[in-house]
Amino acid sequence: MKKHIYLDHAATTPTDPRVVKAMAPYWTKNFANPSSLYYIGQRAKNTLDNARIAVAKIFNSQPEEVIFTGGGTESINLAIKGAVIASRLTPAHVITSNFEHHAVLNAVYALKNQGHEVSLIPVDAEGFVMQDKLWSEIQDNTVLISIMMANNEVGTIEPIQEIGAHLEKLNKERKAKNLPHIFFHTDACQAAGALELNVDKLHVDLLSINGSKIYGPKGVGALYIRRGTALKALVDGGGQEKNLRSGTENIPGIVGLATALNIAEQNREKENKRLITLRDWTIKKLLTTIPKTLLNGHASQRLPNNINISILDIEGEAMLLYLDEIGIQASTGSACTAQDLEPSHVIRALGRPYEAAHGSLRLTLGHSTTKEDLVFLSKKLPGIVKYLRQVSPINVDMNTLHSSIKKYPREIIKL
Ligand SMILES: *Cc1c(COP(=O)(O)O)cnc(C)c1O
Repeated sequence: MKKHIYLDHAATTPTDPRVVKAMAPYWTKNFANPSSLYYIGQRAKNTLDNARIAVAKIFNSQPEEVIFTGGGTESINLAIKGAVIASRLTPAHVITSNFEHHAVLNAVYALKNQGHEVSLIPVDAEGFVMQDKLWSEIQDNTVLISIMMANNEVGTIEPIQEIGAHLEKLNKERKAKNLPHIFFHTDACQAAGALELNVDKLHVDLLSINGSKIYGPKGVGALYIRRGTALKALVDGGGQEKNLRSGTENIPGIVGLATALNIAEQNREKENKRLITLRDWTIKKLLTTIPKTLLNGHASQRLPNNINISILDIEGEAMLLYLDEIGIQASTGSACTAQDLEPSHVIRALGRPYEAAHGSLRLTLGHSTTKEDLVFLSKKLPGIVKYLRQVSPINVDMNTLHSSIKKYPREIIKL
């Protein structure tokens, strides 16, 4: 039988069988609409309430501050566009980083096209948002800052708590000057399951998560909305989810999300420890056995399951095809696919040149990952790289590469 080593858990996770089991009664048996007044409708409403209580517990929030959505992208769009539209300012100003998921970046581009102002803050060589530039970019009409909790490509964990605490102080000064409140959103789609999501400790007003990255179902998400944070709905209809997300609630999905989040929380510390050991072993092995490699992201302030290295002088897609041949599924920031003409904006934001983005390899570990899998990978990969380099026309000089990373202009982009 062909090997099957799935190392792409940042793309999506398999649904935990316990989650599937928890969802099972809500398809054919307890299928009622929670808005219906008869008994089985009210029972569905109860199920929905309990899922909300469970998620709120993980957020350390009130259940009324949690709404369910159709996934991470939808939560993020509602948080960002909803807060900007609700501010009633034109133009309103939004600050985010140049390092975010496309759900955030394309939401702010859309706002720009509607006449709003956007600043994209650069990150440093390890992927940390440059806070001095963030604070210097605040304007009188700034209404929202959105910074991801952990990056999906290179795993860097942003100092959300620190940014949130500073913003809280700034907001007090703004209040005295009658300037609009700046709300703080974090995209926690990758952080969920790995990091604590206590919204008070983080000092966030809005936090987005989804099911598909935490062994839950795809197409379901949650958004934390701190009391007092005004949002304008993006979908109008029957008024479900406090009028913020109309449409009959996805009860099986919501139960699945709440169950997955609970399981993740229970196993979090133990699983993180296991993954960090595997991660660090693999990073060291690959960096020492394959010449001309470079770790992307911070060495320790990174998600426990994330490995991302640039392997110079090769094309990432070719490497992925050879890995797939031996049963390993991984990901690259390269861009020879039909959808993307540019290589990863995340790897580029670190200051890595195109050559490094093209040869980047992301391995994201998960529950099923064993040491044997990673030993197998680290035995096979050097040979694949060696072969690809023999046919490669590229030959990057590492000293030039390192100095170009240092010299990379880290500028604020104003849209
Ligand atoms: C996956 C992901 C999203 C999008 O979530 P969907 O549920 O696929 O819509 C947004 N942000 C980050 C960081 C992600 O990893």
